[in-house]
Amino acid sequence: MPLVYPGRPGATGHAIVVGAGIVGAASARALARRGWAVTVLDRGAAAGATSSHGEGNLLVSDKLPGAELDLALAASRLWPQLVAELAEELGPTFPALEFDPKGGLVVATTPEGAHGVLELAASQRAAGVTAEELTTEAARALEPQLCPDPAATVFYPQDVQLQPAAAVEALLASARRAGATVTTGVTVEAGLVGGGRLTGVRTSAGELSGDLVVNCAGPWAGEVAARLGVRLPVQPRCGTVLVTTRMPHRIFHKVYDGDYVGATQSGEAGLQTSAVVESTAAGTVLIGSSRQRVGFDDRLQVRVLAELARKAIALFPFLAGMNLLRSYTGFRPYLPDHLPVIGPDHRLPGLYHVTGHEGAGIGLSAISAELLAALVCDQPPVLDPEPFAVHRPSLEPHLAQEDR
Ligand SMILES: Cc1cc2nc3c(=O)[nH]c(=O)nc-3n(C[C@H](O)[C@H](O)[C@H](O)COP(=O)(O)OP(=O)(O)OC[C@H]3O[C@@H](n4cnc5c(N)ncnc54)[C@H](O)[C@@H]3O)c2cc1C
Repeated sequence: MPLVYPGRPGATGHAIVVGAGIVGAASARALARRGWAVTVLDRGAAAGATSSHGEGNLLVSDKLPGAELDLALAASRLWPQLVAELAEELGPTFPALEFDPKGGLVVATTPEGAHGVLELAASQRAAGVTAEELTTEAARALEPQLCPDPAATVFYPQDVQLQPAAAVEALLASARRAGATVTTGVTVEAGLVGGGRLTGVRTSAGELSGDLVVNCAGPWAGEVAARLGVRLPVQPRCGTVLVTTRMPHRIFHKVYDGDYVGATQSGEAGLQTSAVVESTAAGTVLIGSSRQRVGFDDRLQVRVLAELARKAIALFPFLAGMNLLRSYTGFRPYLPDHLPVIGPDHRLPGLYHVTGHEGAGIGLSAISAELLAALVCDQPPVLDPEPFAVHRPSLEPHLAQEDR
């Protein structure tokens, strides 16, 4: 079936969103609700890629003070309202998003780790984060199965968990109700350019014209940008998660070791792991996660699984006696300066990007979409978009050269 512009009486214009992961879904909804005719295109299935191959944490605790933390704080204010809106709009028969404001515990297991964890918490508090240093007794009151002698524990009540694939489905359903069309099984192959601007896309199902194209292709956003005619240095950063069999709930918060912050902020290509442990509503325990830049190689690596398991057991000794159900691997969309790009591409009018969220794309998706929509519709943005612009100084050197 050839693609056709759906039309929408009175629409501001037609936006083509490339990617039906959580970022594309949120972007489609935000634009459709502002009067745009929206077509979402995905070569696979909705939520078929990264957005269903990770965890669903909306975190402020792992962010250093700066632009990403500001975005995360805005996201943590937005999500409760968004979840309530989606529940009301889609009704009780729609699968729940499993939104759980359970809070996060960051645990240092060594005196050296304790210094870093407490220092980070102090800097985050100065930036508006609630970060409460806990005694061992208080920490074990929150998590009775926690290791007996943590060197330091900080509680972050603003950390939240949700079910990412359910969130994608809900955002897409809401976008459809606002008039968006979602077409899967269609690959965007190239851009259509006319009069010095992008005027649409050539796809595996034919050409589609649009007033703007939004690149939400996650770890493939660099490849999609190249197909459309510009360089964007998004690379995949591999991550593996272990899933236990179901058990009675014995872990009540999202708990991670203090190494994790270093891993999120590091640009190292080699293997980095730190344990991130949390229960799901279904009763499984998720143990993430690793970080490694190995291209799109998702072969199982036993040493990664072993390292994650060892670190999780250091936090929760009872896990040594539990069984694993499965493990899975996904690819975070990584940019070399660890900030997403949100907004127009100055090199090609008509092209916008919302990508590069790395390990925070679930949490930051909805607020990024709000920022995109404000920029597209020339409305006041929820926060300063400049740190996320394609032309920002920290990204500029990478727009021209190949990264390794
Ligand atoms: C192990 C792991 C743990 C994680 N944990 C968390 C977490 O706890 N919290 C958090 O916030 N984030 C987490 N993340 C990160 C998060 O999953 C990602 O940042 C987010 O899912 C990115 O969403 P996306 O929509 O940009 O990309 P995707 O979900 O990958 O969607 C991109 C879509 O683009 C489509 N596409 C690509 N190329 C084309 C093309 N040429 N034509 C048409 N379609 C195309 C793909 O098929 C895909 O469906 C984790 C990631 C991993 C790997």
